[in-house]
Amino acid sequence: VINDIRVGYGYDVHQFAEGRRLMLGGIEIPWHAGLLGHSDADVLLHAINDALLGALALGDIGTHFPDTDEKWRGADSTKLLNSSFDLIKRRGYRVQNLDATVVAERPKLKPFIPEMQDMIGRLLEIEPDRVSVKATTSEKMGFIGRNEGIAAMAVILLVK
Ligand code: MG
Repeated sequence: VINDIRVGYGYDVHQFAEGRRLMLGGIEIPWHAGLLGHSDADVLLHAINDALLGALALGDIGTHFPDTDEKWRGADSTKLLNSSFDLIKRRGYRVQNLDATVVAERPKLKPFIPEMQDMIGRLLEIEPDRVSVKATTSEKMGFIGRNEGIAAMAVILLVK
């Protein structure tokens, strides 16, 4: 019997900036540009973070980690995710599975997906086979197609 299950959804987008490290799913991807943001701008972890918070109607990443707060400048997004995950655990929930999509024209992300699954699984205390990370392009259309940035979406299921 499933007593209490909650679904959460998250979306995020960041623009590219030359000379920054490209962090995605908690790992560094070798690339000439990174993403611009107040934190390390890990767009995938931000989408997952919003999905976690959303599942329990706890607001969003912007209310928990405001970009007006110097405390979060250059912040490691794995730490932000840990903090949100603690809120979820304190309420008696755990993650059942998550499914995420990263939309990027370049770089090609496929080779890095297993490492992202391992990292996200460690952060959320689940096996990597419960962490789906998919990568797609925007077929050269729009801001992603023009290599101006990367978007990510995530759906997460929590069980009590
Ligand atoms: Mg963000």
